[in-house]
Amino acid sequence: MAGTFTFTIIKPGAVSNEDIGPILNMINENGFHIAAMKLIKLRTAQAKKFYAVHSERPFYNDLIEFMTSGAILVAILEKDNAVEEYRKLIGNTDPLKAEEGTIRKKFAQSMQKNAVHGSDSDENAEIEASFFFSNSERFSIFDVSDF
Ligand code: ATP
Ligand code: MG
Repeated sequence: MAGTFTFTIIKPGAVSNEDIGPILNMINENGFHIAAMKLIKLRTAQAKKFYAVHSERPFYNDLIEFMTSGAILVAILEKDNAVEEYRKLIGNTDPLKAEEGTIRKKFAQSMQKNAVHGSDSDENAEIEASFFFSNSERFSIFDVSDF
């Protein structure tokens, strides 16, 4: 069964461009519930760990520098089939290839400054969500036990 949540980052370029509000609005309008959210600044060691899969890629050092250059917004988003649905909403990694109506088409500044991150599998969604949030910071609409 497909998972019910994904993890997203609004990246430094979009935060400094005051695009947090419009991006969150698109996320809500497309049926995602915000189950956790905070503004933080990544330390270099955290950024390196988060993007470890790309450590051999030529853009890695620039990516780490960019991701640590300013505040980011991290959030957990809930919806049925969230990972796939959110990848569709954010669009292609390259803004020139991103489809009309996607977050990256509207807000990306470049391939690197592409506005948002979205998990690429249910397994990574859980790894990434628990990297930034404790259980007491997660407010699932699918878990009614607290209410
Ligand atoms: P993300 O993981 O941020 O959701 P993605 O899964 O679409 O993006 P990845 O291949 O995982 O893309 O790359 C991670 C990030 O590294 C990209 O979002 C982008 O910021 C940066 N990146 C990827 N390819 C390049 C490139 N060729 N040049 C510069 N930056 C790149
Ligand atoms: Mg990726």
